[in-house]
Amino acid sequence: MKILIVENPRPLTFAHYNDVANAPLSASLNSGYALAIARQAGWDAAHLDFTSSTETPKRLATTILAEDADLVLFHWVYSWGHERIVREVLDLLRESDAPLGAFGLFPTLSCNRLLQYAPTLDFILMGEFEATLAELLATFRPGDLQPLPGLALPDAPFIPRALIDDLSLLPVPDDVGANCNYASMNIAASRGCHGDCSFCFIKPYYGCSRRRVRTPASLERELTQRIGRRQVDSLYFIDPTFIAPGERERERIIALSRIARAAGLPFGFETRVDTVEEGLLKTLTKNGATSVFLGIESGCDAVLRRINKRITKQQVSDAVRIAQRCGLQLNIGFIMFEPDSTLDELEENYTFLEELELLDEPDMTVNLLYHNQIVLYGSPAWKRFEAEDRLLVDEHLPFEARYRFRDERVGLVCAAMGRLAYEYFRGSDRLQGSASQGRVNNSLKEAFSSYTLAAERGQTEQIAELEVFFAQQLKNIE
Ligand code: SF4
Repeated sequence: MKILIVENPRPLTFAHYNDVANAPLSASLNSGYALAIARQAGWDAAHLDFTSSTETPKRLATTILAEDADLVLFHWVYSWGHERIVREVLDLLRESDAPLGAFGLFPTLSCNRLLQYAPTLDFILMGEFEATLAELLATFRPGDLQPLPGLALPDAPFIPRALIDDLSLLPVPDDVGANCNYASMNIAASRGCHGDCSFCFIKPYYGCSRRRVRTPASLERELTQRIGRRQVDSLYFIDPTFIAPGERERERIIALSRIARAAGLPFGFETRVDTVEEGLLKTLTKNGATSVFLGIESGCDAVLRRINKRITKQQVSDAVRIAQRCGLQLNIGFIMFEPDSTLDELEENYTFLEELELLDEPDMTVNLLYHNQIVLYGSPAWKRFEAEDRLLVDEHLPFEARYRFRDERVGLVCAAMGRLAYEYFRGSDRLQGSASQGRVNNSLKEAFSSYTLAAERGQTEQIAELEVFFAQQLKNIE
């Protein structure tokens, strides 16, 4: 028997030029785990990566059919309005008898709607998929898909599947697709997050806020095997929060860092602000940590409460300072334009970022000053804005939506900063190499302050004039 795992095309669009939030980082390992599970079940396993493909659905379907697989499984990621490409491919694949399935965040959150949108889809593996896939392959009989826990079928009641208790028992994932082109290798040391942020997909995907870990020994085994396959210069722990509270967890994290150091691999990781502690970060840095991603999201306590971040502005400030003192490269997740924000809160955010010296270079500045909340179908945010009659749905984009800001002036500043950010990213090759980084940075910051001021004074037409001015200013910088 043969299974084919397919990555759907994910074309870049204007609106999402720099957005990567259509899947959690852990999704980068999904196909690798699925391939490993399939081989463990005694199946042949193949992988087609159409992530960057611009081929027609007909050509994509022909390539898939040529694999002559007994089961085709799409690792289907939200694709910014291009979902119809996969639907057309699925229709064309119906000339084969192989069951067609999907897995990953998007099919999980959109399950019922997706089964209607793409009626040629036979099943969806919901949430954490490895155990369901293993059972599906072990019991597979051509032409006879039976209900299983974790398997959503169009006309059968869904039975949930318990999460995998011991992550150490997972097979070593294959290294496939775009991952193999990077010198940095993604690896997972845990799953889930004890947080419950209102905009996040992690809890809806796993169905709970439970975090599970694997043993250092199992991670070491995986590392040894995977770095033997290809050139790897560094590691990136894709865990939603690499660190969690408690002494046992502290020891485990230090043990993981020692494994990375023994392998000669510097590493980066993401973690919640409330897990950052100076002694631990110093130890991790000594053992090779070079970067940390902190999802701080806001510099206002009121916003942090609204998004249920369960941290305070003071904790954010302390964590950023610790990371800076440790000399770690800081990457920041920040939702400048939270949907209920006031103009005062935008200013408070700006002052906070300035005080923390996070607006000192243009790449970081642009990212901190333009992001708004992304609303994807099936997410808690979608349900909330729908209930509040604030969801703005475009019928051509069935799986993503915009929303009405509580203060429409905030929406105007957000849209203006979005367009300026796009100008920046479009010219980034020229601007990043520019000797005038300081001018670029000042221009971005001045634009933000000027748009906000104009919005405060109710001079909304002036925002349009300012937009032209700042876009031209960026273009003029050599
Ligand atoms: S801390 Fe990060 S991973 Fe955890 S729930 Fe919040 S956004 Fe999600």
